Amino acid sequence: MGAEITRLREVLGEVGDLEEASRLLEWDMETYLPAGGFSGRGQVLSTLNRRAHDLFTSERLSRLLEAAESAVAGLDFESDDVSLVRVTRRDHDRERRVPSELVGEMAEASAAASPAWREARGKSDFELFAPHLQTNLDLSRRRAEAIGFESRPFDALLFTEPGMTTTQLEEIFAQLKAAIVPLVRRIAARSDQVDDSCLYGDFPARRQLDFVKRVITRLGYDFERGRMDPAAHPFMIGINPGDVRLTNRVSTEFLPMSLFGGIHESGHGMYGQGIAPELARTPLWEGASPGIHESQSRLYENLVGRGRPFWNHWFGDLQATFPEQLGKVDVEGFYRAINKVHPSLIRVEADEVTYNLHILLRFELENELLEGRLQVDEVPAAWNAKMEEYLGVEPRSHAEGALQDMHWTFSGGMGIFPSYTIGNVVGAQLMAAIETEIPDLADRIEAGDFAPLLGWLGERVHRHGRKFTPSELLERAIGQPMDAGPWIAYVERKFGEIYGLS
Ligand code: ZN
Repeated sequence: MGAEITRLREVLGEVGDLEEASRLLEWDMETYLPAGGFSGRGQVLSTLNRRAHDLFTSERLSRLLEAAESAVAGLDFESDDVSLVRVTRRDHDRERRVPSELVGEMAEASAAASPAWREARGKSDFELFAPHLQTNLDLSRRRAEAIGFESRPFDALLFTEPGMTTTQLEEIFAQLKAAIVPLVRRIAARSDQVDDSCLYGDFPARRQLDFVKRVITRLGYDFERGRMDPAAHPFMIGINPGDVRLTNRVSTEFLPMSLFGGIHESGHGMYGQGIAPELARTPLWEGASPGIHESQSRLYENLVGRGRPFWNHWFGDLQATFPEQLGKVDVEGFYRAINKVHPSLIRVEADEVTYNLHILLRFELENELLEGRLQVDEVPAAWNAKMEEYLGVEPRSHAEGALQDMHWTFSGGMGIFPSYTIGNVVGAQLMAAIETEIPDLADRIEAGDFAPLLGWLGERVHRHGRKFTPSELLERAIGQPMDAGPWIAYVERKFGEIYGLS
């Protein structure tokens, strides 16, 4: 089988090289590119992306893929070669179904929508953004038609979470809604139980970043194969196996931003650094899906980083870093402060308990729009009604309501919100399994020993890259399908204790 796979890998490697160059240019745009460099940069990126797309969808690749399929027929499903052929087939067929005119229209529509959204949000005027949302909705429908679906257009847009269906997500969200909405009401009634004032003050940026660097190095993020730079939006971007970068942002007035942002991104970073290097320069050198990626960042940020054992280890160091600010706070007070639950209007500021309700709202609205049950001009009212119903808060303006997220400015932006909830749910499932298999995990964390945790994730999740779909991966890692039960049990236990709910 050698020759066919080698020839396929050569072309995929060229695609991979073009994509690597794009990623580095994108990282540069988000970090150090001087203002004067932006106008030309868009063109370079568009050329590189078009070349990569043309090569990946070419007749040449089709023929190489067919030859490789015959060569690996009947071989081990889990092997790198068989997985490479299987995943490349899935991506290649989908990309070929979306006509390049549509790809071009989507890029243009996104470019036009972005400044309109900025202006609309600035003026809190939904009317200014509505025509662009309508265009992006129409393009999303056409894209769904091109990819193909049976009854729910959202199924087609869920291609980034292969194997997942809209119905399956609806069941998970129904489970979450039934548990969280009443929990949030009970917590809100006892909001005086937690004081988070110690998190606000004057925290010098340099000291914050040095502390975050110490923490994530100990977690296992390798600075010899990565770096962390300041940026407006925190993100992780894997350039290649030896270069997986993070960004972070700092508020000198609010400590949690850099701290939990950094831990979150390091979870993504350790995933990227843990993918088997043999998968580089192929479509398999990636996380299994955005949802599985998010399971790693949220596991580290929330289940580890907002946990008692973690702070029993780190609080002394944090206090020594900020003696004036935190000298009078004890570890229990700090633990409670970082876990304060507060129903709020803005998704990116939401706490662990309420976050999934923000996603549920967007998931429902997108489905209603795609299926014609809701019109674009009805979005703000529908948004506000759901906020009131789920979280008990109502936006005073569209800027803090339907105009808050950037996602709908992208014509490919519909269908991606559920990945955040998949991340929360899967992260808790993995953690429940890890706690069973490593019974002294909490003691190890309290002792500052994070190697067993990273070792488990590396072996069961990271090294496989994109070889398996989310459900194939979960089946192999913990022998279970996706299930919201462990996440619900975790928040009920943790926040029930913090808020003294019986
Ligand atoms: Zn993330």
